[in-house]
Amino acid sequence: MSSVPPASAMVPFDQREGFIWYNGRTLAWKDARLHVMSHGLHYASCVFEGIRSYGGRIYKPSAHYERFHESARLLDFEIPYSIEELKDATVSLLAKNSLTDAYIRPIAWRGSEQMAIAADKTSIHTAIIVWDFGPYFGSRLQGIRLTLSRWRRPSAESAPCKSKAAGLYTICTLAKHEAQRAGFDDALMLDYRGLVAESTGSNIFLVIDGALHTPLADCFLDGITRRTLIDIAKRAGIEVVERAITLDDFDKAQEVFLTGTAAEVTLVREIDERKFDDSQITKRLAKLYDEGVRIG
Ligand code: PMP
Repeated sequence: MSSVPPASAMVPFDQREGFIWYNGRTLAWKDARLHVMSHGLHYASCVFEGIRSYGGRIYKPSAHYERFHESARLLDFEIPYSIEELKDATVSLLAKNSLTDAYIRPIAWRGSEQMAIAADKTSIHTAIIVWDFGPYFGSRLQGIRLTLSRWRRPSAESAPCKSKAAGLYTICTLAKHEAQRAGFDDALMLDYRGLVAESTGSNIFLVIDGALHTPLADCFLDGITRRTLIDIAKRAGIEVVERAITLDDFDKAQEVFLTGTAAEVTLVREIDERKFDDSQITKRLAKLYDEGVRIG
């Protein structure tokens, strides 16, 4: 169902053309390298962001770069560039790469001065990469199929779950691989309590009798798109309930959708044997979201 070309048909990311912003300089794409003795690689001392630009406008850059800074602080390091510097660098980089509709990937990691668990003397490296990127899930409003993952989101006592930390994506990659191998588009993840959490890279909403219900974001990312959708729905006169959601709640739902910078608003048509036939409210909200991203 996906319109995204298979990975085997794509040019590997380290062999593409263009420019990458790397520690304050703009480098040719092929020159943006790091050494294998990088703490970020060995110990996942690494945080990143995912931002989109639409028609040449970066969508919510301050919110994303604030979260970028906060993600690093939660991993006990400071990103050595201000939010304004990162925003300016992104604008210049998009222009340099002649991109208007792009995915933007800021990333920061600990360097090579120490190679042990303690790493507080390492330098911090920062890069921004931009590339052409269409819909994350082929056709967003035809609906995707999810399967329940055996992997669960850890508690706030077990992981820095408010950080967009590379290490936290290990379970997401495992869950996504298992789902795709079983013929699904993505996985639904529960949290450590067995409550519904999110998918591997997006937040989840249920439409129950005209109201939106979404899990409390207490052990996973409170997505910028999630917050945007909550605002859009409230302005459209739709009630929004943030609460603990169980799997049984899906039996009461007429519609389910995912939200995220990459996923935007993506309809879910099945979760294993549960099917959701309606899509009216999702389509209405998706339209409002799509209009919003183009006017900022
Ligand atoms: N959860 C996870 C695990 C994610 O990777 C993302 C994407 N950043 C989200 C939720 C949604 O966040 P946002 O809307 O800020 O992109």
